[in-house]
Amino acid sequence: MSIPLLPPRNLLHPTVFRNWICTWCNHRYTGNKQCPKCHEWVYTIEAGNIPGEV
Ligand SMILES: [Zn+2]
Repeated sequence: MSIPLLPPRNLLHPTVFRNWICTWCNHRYTGNKQCPKCHEWVYTIEAGNIPGEV
């Protein structure tokens, strides 16, 4: 009986998946940096740790 060695999973993505706030349309979302509402990313800032937000 052999146990297969599984390589550690890398969760490295080309895009940053986190909380963002688009200051252009004031839309808050989670995902990559591009705003799903106005499709801009120049005005997107990192939401960071907002109390009460998960
Ligand atoms: Zn936006």
